[in-house]
Amino acid sequence: MKITELLGTEKKLMSFEVFPPKTSDKFDTVLAAADSIAALGPAFMSVTYGAGGGTSRYTLDIATDIERSYGVPCLAHLTCVNSTKETVRQRIIDMKEAGIENVMALRGDLTPEMEGKDRSEWDYHHAIELITQLKEQGDFCIGAACYPEVHPESTSQKEDIAHLKEKVDAGASFLTTQMFFDNNLFFNFLYKIREAGITCPVIPGIMPITNANQVDRAIKLSGSFMPQRFKSLVDAFGHDPKAMCQAGIAYATDQVIDLYANGINNVHIYSMNKPHVASAILDNLSEILSK
Ligand code: FAD
Repeated sequence: MKITELLGTEKKLMSFEVFPPKTSDKFDTVLAAADSIAALGPAFMSVTYGAGGGTSRYTLDIATDIERSYGVPCLAHLTCVNSTKETVRQRIIDMKEAGIENVMALRGDLTPEMEGKDRSEWDYHHAIELITQLKEQGDFCIGAACYPEVHPESTSQKEDIAHLKEKVDAGASFLTTQMFFDNNLFFNFLYKIREAGITCPVIPGIMPITNANQVDRAIKLSGSFMPQRFKSLVDAFGHDPKAMCQAGIAYATDQVIDLYANGINNVHIYSMNKPHVASAILDNLSEILSK
């Protein structure tokens, strides 16, 4: 099923993300976690793509397993910046053969070695090139990434939104956001992109921070603003793993309730291969999601 068929209804939906392992010895553990999350019956699941493409096969294997065993539609991520046109062409063929209908088209992060290099010879520079190739190679439902707090490489939000519109015009039919911890940033962003003429569904991505060690990593990765309310929570409970987990799930739940209450019907949870986190959030929202 194409994800766009799920979006845009009055029903409140929740989707979850898993990431593939880096090495084969972890594959079964990750697959078991993904299966446990799929068994919770989310609207769809996304499976990320290892930077550089080293785990591309795992992305496909996990996505097809979830679709076949649980009937949960999957969104397979694909990056391009570190790849040749031929490699990506083959990966798209593999996806088609595996029956993948939904693809998240991403550029991928630039590694420190890539920064400052002459890029004129690269096959890919931006996600839009992958979106165009996906459109040429098949009838995929294509998602793309967006950044309520501006992508770190952009010099202004206006420029970032202009490039986002190009991605949508090239064929992305929905957008998923980078994580954020202050919903007002998302609502402001939504207002601005609608004003810029981007009309497709936008799925907010919420990251439950369930241990104190995640905080620095999450900020470094996303550049997200941490509200004082969240910092206080980490100060108070960060030293106590169980309390921090409970508080992090409560904070994420609160963000989701606020989004649903303000008319955003689809929320994506960066569940980080943690079935207990996905399950706890669903439990907290059981009455809201049953409507
Ligand atoms: P782009 O859309 O190419 O944007 C990158 C930067 O270039 C932005 O500043 C943008 O404004 C600018 N830009 C875009 N188009 C142009 C243009 N034509 N000319 C000039 N500038 C332009 N990474 C992974 O490795 N694997 C994953 O599975 C993965 N999943 C993700 C899922 C989500 C929801 C998000 C938000 C991010 C994910 N990432 C993943 C991280 C992502 O690869 C990085 O954020 C990366 O730095 C940018 O990817 P993009 O697709 O947004 O790139």
